[in-house]
Amino acid sequence: MAIAGNRFFADVVVCGGGVAGAAAAIAAGRAGKRVFLLEYRESLGGLVTNGYITGIAGCIDGLCKEWLEKLDAEGHATMRAHLPVVEPEYGRVMLEQMVLQSGARILYGTHAVDVEKEAGSIRRVIAYCKSGRIELEAGVFIDCTGDADLAAAAGCPYEVGNAEFMGLNQSVTMGFKLSYVDLERYYAANAAFRQDPEYDAESPQHSSFIVHQEYKAMENGDLHELLSPGYLVYAMPGDPKCTDVTLDATHTFDCRCDDVVDLTRQIVDQHRKVLWFVEFLKKYIPGFEKAKLTSLAPMNGVRESRRVIGEYVLKAEDIAAARKFEDGIWQHAEVFDAHVPTPGKHTANRHIHASAPIEPAVCRHVPKDTDYNMHPFVDPLPYEVRTNPREYCEVPFRCLIAKGADNLLVAGRCFSADYHANGCVRIIAACMGMGQAAGTGAALFLDRGLTALRELDGALVRQEMIRQGVKLDEAPGGYWKTIREFDGEVFINGADMADLRDAEGHSPYLF
Ligand SMILES: Cc1cc2nc3c(=O)[nH]c(=O)nc-3n(C[C@H](O)[C@H](O)[C@H](O)COP(=O)(O)OP(=O)(O)OC[C@H]3O[C@@H](n4cnc5c(N)ncnc54)[C@H](O)[C@@H]3O)c2cc1C
Repeated sequence: MAIAGNRFFADVVVCGGGVAGAAAAIAAGRAGKRVFLLEYRESLGGLVTNGYITGIAGCIDGLCKEWLEKLDAEGHATMRAHLPVVEPEYGRVMLEQMVLQSGARILYGTHAVDVEKEAGSIRRVIAYCKSGRIELEAGVFIDCTGDADLAAAAGCPYEVGNAEFMGLNQSVTMGFKLSYVDLERYYAANAAFRQDPEYDAESPQHSSFIVHQEYKAMENGDLHELLSPGYLVYAMPGDPKCTDVTLDATHTFDCRCDDVVDLTRQIVDQHRKVLWFVEFLKKYIPGFEKAKLTSLAPMNGVRESRRVIGEYVLKAEDIAAARKFEDGIWQHAEVFDAHVPTPGKHTANRHIHASAPIEPAVCRHVPKDTDYNMHPFVDPLPYEVRTNPREYCEVPFRCLIAKGADNLLVAGRCFSADYHANGCVRIIAACMGMGQAAGTGAALFLDRGLTALRELDGALVRQEMIRQGVKLDEAPGGYWKTIREFDGEVFINGADMADLRDAEGHSPYLF
């Protein structure tokens, strides 16, 4: 690492310090590389710590597992079979410690805005910070900005949004924190709702207790629209009597997440909606009567914006077909979860459509005229396809190699995938896994003196991930093993999962 005036020299420059960027920096730092990690906010963790998305979905392995275990050891994570929860403040500091201990250096308040290229490679990143304009030179660059800022600046090809929705992005949801919530009362009311003889699991109005109450509030004139067609409530880890929770609930639709004017509209809309939603919770949800809004997330809840086109574009069909790859660097076993870009009664697409069934996915033929408000503009293909929860697919290393720049890797939610594959794999554990693979791959690339990342055999990255302890050579364990061994019909969406409980009797989807 060297600094000369406004010029910084490293082996690897990582832009964006979300969970993906932090993992990339740690992996490259542990591999002995000189690393700068640029982050324009003043802490690491991105959406997890600054967006209050505190429930970690996906296969918990590698650096993600290490981070959670370190937090758990200090009482700042709730470890459970599925969706462990982190305390965002301790989470960000723990990531910072892990990055610094790897030898990587962090530059906070530093916004990567441009690149200079030479002969097909990025030579340097241009960033702005309190010191003014700085330049960072390196052999490899890793774009973990979530929005593919670096790839876009480098002129690399990318896609935005869903073509079937006129390029709109998934809906946006800002997280927030509440204090003085009596979760026991809330859980009891939630359970009573599900046991009510009038409860109809098929009805959108009954999709959850809170949604049911929202409809009531609309009937009473207390809400003018359904603010949250779906939501997550996470208790803060630590003391079970703690009354603090993080929530992400309210949705803004028709979003264009690479447009500053629209991003500002989303933020203003979310600020208003969260305030309305809190008033609704206080009036209609037992346990929330005394709730106090203690924080609006300082980071907008953008689920997706730009998706880089890489050496391989992961397809939704790959996920449905549970495809494995020689250069597979992460396992993925979750359901489809692209949130619908336009308003309506459904929050997320738990399925894709195909012209024929896909093995081993769960497929059913649907009539052409099925009224799906989640497909408002085009007739979907005739087969509705859901992932088989007993199976998993892999993310190939090639999805992290950006086309259009020889030395650019991308990791996290802007990795190379089609709309529905991205909507599924963008979850926290997978973003960290991709970051770990990108940092590992960057080191292997430099050690071999290669000139273009596509020359790097991704199987080597896989082997190195396995050597680091990532269990890519066996099917996912823990919760996923329980699902495989579950005797009987296996759920394919959240509500049905209430039947599956861990050793302590907790259902992963009873929020
Ligand atoms: C509302 C919502 C609910 C979700 N629910 C879940 C859930 O329950 N479970 C789950 O596992 N996942 C969930 N996700 C997905 C998951 O949280 C994110 O996809 C994941 O955290 C993304 O991590 P990342 O590191 O790729 O990107 P980000 O978290 O977006 O991090 C990017 C970082 O880069 C920085 N940055 C951006 N541009 C620049 C730049 N030009 N220069 C310098 N720094 C820059 C940002 O400040 C940020 O810190 C949810 C997402 C949302 C929005």
